[in-house]
Amino acid sequence: MIVVLTGAPGAGKGTQADMLAKRLGFRKVSTGDALRRQVKLQTEIGKKADALMSAGRLVPDDVLLQVLMTEVGQDKNEKILLDGYPRNVNQAKTLKMAMDRVHPVKAAIHLDVQREELIGRLSGRRVCGKCGATFHVKANPPKNEGICDVCGGGLIRRSDDDPEKIAVRLDVYDRDTKPVLDFYRQADLYHVITGSGDLERVYKELAGVVKVVCQ
Ligand code: AMP
Repeated sequence: MIVVLTGAPGAGKGTQADMLAKRLGFRKVSTGDALRRQVKLQTEIGKKADALMSAGRLVPDDVLLQVLMTEVGQDKNEKILLDGYPRNVNQAKTLKMAMDRVHPVKAAIHLDVQREELIGRLSGRRVCGKCGATFHVKANPPKNEGICDVCGGGLIRRSDDDPEKIAVRLDVYDRDTKPVLDFYRQADLYHVITGSGDLERVYKELAGVVKVVCQ
């Protein structure tokens, strides 16, 4: 089964998906992480995605379908959290058509955060270039500036986390991804949670919904 975590860039989908994976036995599938791996390896997919990702724009749907099929796999017994997909209505329809028999979508849970807060979160975000751990210069600083607490790697700012790209990504979200919320509302799969404030509070609410829908 699949639980879709949806919301704007910076809403905390990745962080919450990691927590759910660790505590409730889900597997997190992040299309953003998968694409970044392909860019690093300079595969055909990576080459197609690189410039678009740096510009904060969406990578074409056919490329994403390839990523999705590879990442999700065919194991019916797996509980999958999807972070970053679908990002438009066409992808939501594709997910249904391509995956429904093996992995039906049980819920689409929206982490709702105001634009001002999203900008603050994204502009202060730093990620480890080695292990991918995420920090924030104010809200969650590393013990030693610029150094990852987890593996000692160097912390960097994602190329799409500068102010101009953040604005593009939030506009793309409003235009292309917000209609996905209606798609799931109509399918009776939509849930919304306030994504601002304490991480554990958000987690508790989110886990409550996940446990009910996955019974
Ligand atoms: P994320 O890590 O989820 O913020 O994704 C980073 C970037 O990867 C996005 O800004 C897009 O350029 C690309 N990307 C990730 N998922 C998708 C998707 N489902 N459709 C199109 N582009 C995507």
